[in-house]
Amino acid sequence: MGRWHRSRMWIQRTPEEEAKWRASAEKDARSHGLMIGLLGWGIAVILVSAGWFVSFYGGMAVQRSYGGSFWMRLLIFGVIASPIIFIARRVESRKALRKDLARTICPKCDTAAEGNAGTACQCGGAFVPASTVRWVERV
Ligand SMILES: [Zn+2]
Repeated sequence: MGRWHRSRMWIQRTPEEEAKWRASAEKDARSHGLMIGLLGWGIAVILVSAGWFVSFYGGMAVQRSYGGSFWMRLLIFGVIASPIIFIARRVESRKALRKDLARTICPKCDTAAEGNAGTACQCGGAFVPASTVRWVERV
Protein backbone atom coordinates (compact mmCIF):
# COMPACT_ATOMS: atom_id res chain seq x y z
CA MET A 1 0.00 0.00 0.00
CA GLY A 2 2.70 2.48 1.05
CA ARG A 3 4.76 1.68 -1.99
CA TRP A 4 1.81 2.18 -4.31
CA HIS A 5 1.29 5.63 -2.83
CA ARG A 6 4.93 6.58 -3.20
CA SER A 7 4.96 5.62 -6.85
CA ARG A 8 2.20 8.06 -7.76
CA MET A 9 1.58 11.65 -6.83
CA TRP A 10 -0.49 14.72 -7.54
CA ILE A 11 1.21 17.57 -9.31
CA GLN A 12 0.11 21.06 -10.16
CA ARG A 13 -1.29 21.47 -13.66
CA THR A 14 0.20 24.06 -15.97
CA PRO A 15 -2.18 26.83 -17.12
CA GLU A 16 -2.49 25.08 -20.51
CA GLU A 17 -3.36 21.79 -18.84
CA GLU A 18 -5.90 23.56 -16.67
CA ALA A 19 -7.48 25.19 -19.75
CA LYS A 20 -7.60 21.77 -21.41
CA TRP A 21 -9.23 20.28 -18.32
CA ARG A 22 -11.83 23.04 -18.36
CA ALA A 23 -12.55 22.58 -22.05
CA SER A 24 -13.12 18.86 -21.61
CA ALA A 25 -15.20 19.44 -18.47
CA GLU A 26 -17.35 21.90 -20.44
CA LYS A 27 -17.74 19.42 -23.26
CA ASP A 28 -18.78 16.66 -20.85
CA ALA A 29 -21.17 19.02 -19.09
CA ARG A 30 -22.76 20.02 -22.39
CA SER A 31 -23.33 16.46 -23.56
CA HIS A 32 -24.68 15.56 -20.12
CA GLY A 33 -27.05 18.54 -20.34
CA LEU A 34 -28.16 17.55 -23.83
CA MET A 35 -28.89 14.01 -22.67
CA ILE A 36 -31.04 15.25 -19.77
CA GLY A 37 -32.79 17.71 -22.10
CA LEU A 38 -33.59 15.05 -24.68
CA LEU A 39 -34.77 12.64 -22.03
CA GLY A 40 -37.05 15.21 -20.40
CA TRP A 41 -38.39 16.31 -23.76
CA GLY A 42 -39.02 12.73 -24.93
CA ILE A 43 -40.86 11.78 -21.76
CA ALA A 44 -42.91 15.00 -21.73
CA VAL A 45 -43.91 14.69 -25.40
CA ILE A 46 -44.93 11.04 -25.12
CA LEU A 47 -46.94 11.66 -21.95
CA VAL A 48 -48.73 14.69 -23.36
CA SER A 49 -49.38 13.01 -26.72
CA ALA A 50 -50.84 10.02 -24.95
CA GLY A 51 -53.12 12.45 -23.14
CA TRP A 52 -51.53 12.05 -19.76
CA PHE A 53 -50.78 15.03 -17.59
CA VAL A 54 -48.80 14.10 -14.57
CA SER A 55 -49.39 16.42 -11.71
CA PHE A 56 -46.16 16.54 -9.75
CA TYR A 57 -47.83 18.21 -6.82
CA GLY A 58 -50.68 15.78 -6.43
CA GLY A 59 -48.69 12.85 -7.80
CA MET A 60 -51.66 11.96 -10.00
CA ALA A 61 -51.98 11.45 -13.69
CA VAL A 62 -54.93 13.18 -15.33
CA GLN A 63 -56.07 12.03 -18.72
CA ARG A 64 -57.19 14.60 -21.26
CA SER A 65 -58.40 13.94 -24.72
CA TYR A 66 -57.24 15.90 -27.76
CA GLY A 67 -58.31 15.54 -31.34
CA GLY A 68 -56.18 13.79 -33.96
CA SER A 69 -54.12 10.65 -33.85
CA PHE A 70 -51.40 9.90 -31.34
CA TRP A 71 -48.70 10.35 -33.99
CA MET A 72 -50.07 13.70 -35.11
CA ARG A 73 -50.11 14.89 -31.52
CA LEU A 74 -46.61 13.49 -31.00
CA LEU A 75 -45.38 15.58 -33.91
CA ILE A 76 -47.13 18.78 -32.82
CA PHE A 77 -46.19 18.53 -29.16
CA GLY A 78 -42.68 17.52 -30.13
CA VAL A 79 -42.24 20.80 -31.96
CA ILE A 80 -43.98 22.87 -29.28
CA ALA A 81 -41.94 21.29 -26.49
CA SER A 82 -38.59 21.40 -28.28
CA PRO A 83 -37.35 24.48 -26.35
CA ILE A 84 -37.32 22.17 -23.30
CA ILE A 85 -34.22 20.54 -24.78
CA PHE A 86 -32.30 23.80 -25.02
CA ILE A 87 -33.43 25.13 -21.64
CA ALA A 88 -32.69 21.86 -19.86
CA ARG A 89 -29.37 21.57 -21.67
CA ARG A 90 -28.31 25.01 -20.49
CA VAL A 91 -29.47 24.55 -16.93
CA GLU A 92 -28.12 21.01 -16.58
CA SER A 93 -24.78 21.65 -18.25
CA ARG A 94 -24.20 24.67 -16.02
CA LYS A 95 -25.05 22.58 -12.98
CA ALA A 96 -22.72 19.77 -14.09
CA LEU A 97 -19.86 22.16 -14.74
CA ARG A 98 -20.32 23.84 -11.38
CA LYS A 99 -20.13 20.45 -9.73
CA ASP A 100 -16.96 19.59 -11.67
CA LEU A 101 -15.34 22.86 -10.68
CA ALA A 102 -16.31 22.38 -7.04
CA ARG A 103 -14.54 18.99 -6.87
CA THR A 104 -11.51 19.08 -4.62
CA ILE A 105 -8.80 16.69 -3.61
CA CYS A 106 -6.31 16.44 -0.78
CA PRO A 107 -3.04 15.70 -2.63
CA LYS A 108 -1.51 14.26 0.53
CA CYS A 109 -3.99 11.47 1.24
CA ASP A 110 -6.14 11.36 -1.95
CA THR A 111 -9.35 12.28 -0.16
CA ALA A 112 -11.90 13.65 -2.59
CA ALA A 113 -14.41 16.25 -1.50
CA GLU A 114 -16.53 19.06 -2.85
CA GLY A 115 -16.55 22.82 -2.50
CA ASN A 116 -13.93 23.03 0.26
CA ALA A 117 -10.84 24.26 -1.59
CA GLY A 118 -8.32 25.79 0.77
CA THR A 119 -9.62 24.10 3.90
CA ALA A 120 -7.46 21.77 5.97
CA CYS A 121 -7.74 18.00 5.67
CA GLN A 122 -7.72 15.58 8.61
CA CYS A 123 -4.30 14.33 7.48
CA GLY A 124 -2.76 17.79 7.83
CA GLY A 125 -2.84 18.52 4.10
CA ALA A 126 -5.04 21.07 2.39
CA PHE A 127 -7.77 20.57 -0.21
CA VAL A 128 -7.14 21.99 -3.66
CA PRO A 129 -9.55 22.19 -6.65
CA ALA A 130 -9.33 18.96 -8.64
CA SER A 131 -9.04 21.05 -11.79
CA THR A 132 -5.62 22.35 -10.75
CA VAL A 133 -3.87 19.04 -10.11
CA ARG A 134 -3.33 15.78 -11.94
CA TRP A 135 -1.97 12.31 -11.26
CA VAL A 136 1.49 11.39 -12.37
CA GLU A 137 3.29 8.08 -12.25
CA ARG A 138 6.76 8.36 -10.85
CA VAL A 139 9.42 6.40 -12.63
ZN1 LIG B 1 -5.62 14.66 3.41
